[in-house]
Amino acid sequence: MTITLQPTSPPATRSPGAPAPDHPSSTALVGVLVLALIALFVAWRASLGTHPWTRCPKCKGDPRSYHPVFGRHFALCPHCNGSGRVLRKGAPPQ
Ligand SMILES: [Zn+2]
Repeated sequence: MTITLQPTSPPATRSPGAPAPDHPSSTALVGVLVLALIALFVAWRASLGTHPWTRCPKCKGDPRSYHPVFGRHFALCPHCNGSGRVLRKGAPPQ
């Protein structure tokens, strides 16, 4: 087995009047980012339509807090009114 080394190409030298090499312009990059943000926004809105509820952040979905001594007594979570769920931010009212 022989290893042959390929000579590297010399650095490109531009003549003063030659056009600039092709680089992605920053305008195209901003356009791609804006399209990605729009796609994320549309996906988020569609997700709100199909899954508008989330677990209550206060009671973590378990709305009953039991009395520490009298174990049969409990109170309901005031944040979710005992349902254990709340609407996600931006979700339409149910
Ligand atoms: Zn709750």
